[in-house]
Amino acid sequence: VNILRTKTAVKEAMKPLLQQGKTIGLVPTMGALHEGHLSLVEKSKSYSDITIASIFVNPTQFNNPADLEKYPRPIEKDLKLLEENGVDFVFLPEVSEIYPDEVKLKIDFGELDKVLEGEFREGHFNGVGVVVSKLFNIIRPDHAYFGQKDLQQLAIIRRLNHDLSFGVELVQVDTIREQDGLAMSSRNMRLSKEDRLLATILYRCLSFAKDELLSGKDWFETKDKVTRRFMDEPNARLEYFELVKACTVEKVSQITDDETYAICTAAYIREVRLIDNLIIND
Ligand code: AMP
Repeated sequence: VNILRTKTAVKEAMKPLLQQGKTIGLVPTMGALHEGHLSLVEKSKSYSDITIASIFVNPTQFNNPADLEKYPRPIEKDLKLLEENGVDFVFLPEVSEIYPDEVKLKIDFGELDKVLEGEFREGHFNGVGVVVSKLFNIIRPDHAYFGQKDLQQLAIIRRLNHDLSFGVELVQVDTIREQDGLAMSSRNMRLSKEDRLLATILYRCLSFAKDELLSGKDWFETKDKVTRRFMDEPNARLEYFELVKACTVEKVSQITDDETYAICTAAYIREVRLIDNLIIND
């Protein structure tokens, strides 16, 4: 696989492809790749002529220094996986290549980043917005692929793309899960065997709440039951469990037929923070 480490190298590599009229698909990642990431790659390969994956653990989107430090970085394994899965280029910049200077720009996403992740991870979406803007400007992709796993991130990037006229076609990819329902995540690697089993509590509670809602149960009663389930587990701590409009992540307390809703959750399994969501009514 062709590794590009600098902005200049990207520009040089993309130039002939643009001249040939090839479409470029970007798959942004922070590495520690799993089948979720690979499904984005697969989608890109079927839809874009050229696929470029980026691996960059973006420091500015981590609000917790320990989380950044402990973020897994199995770079050789990642490169091998990308090669095996037919990626054309990997953009693998150093932090100093992306941030030669401190970024002072602050992006206000309005109501979008005041809830869910935005409420609990101060500055997170500002960091996401800045790095995605940089990637879009450096790579100039035609298409960019993002997972539904990070539903709020998708809403943020849709707004960024629209309000700043990037003109990138955003492609949303379904969440890939382990057999027992746990959403694949790079952070799952940090779970002990015992905690890995406990981690299915997120998916179990999401599925339970979805069934309750679809059978007409009251949202607040459902949320109460979920909160109590978490309280019975000393090594799990629920951060939020919210019913939202899937497109705008606006919090609601009931569902209607004319709109798509999702339940979004974040929880700590011991010290590892996991997020997940389920769409209620496609
Ligand atoms: P990350 O490396 O965690 O920043 O994720 C990179 C991209 O992969 C994001 O668009 C995520 O939404 C997506 N992604 C992460 N986990 C999954 C999953 N289990 N299924 C599908 N996409 C995922």
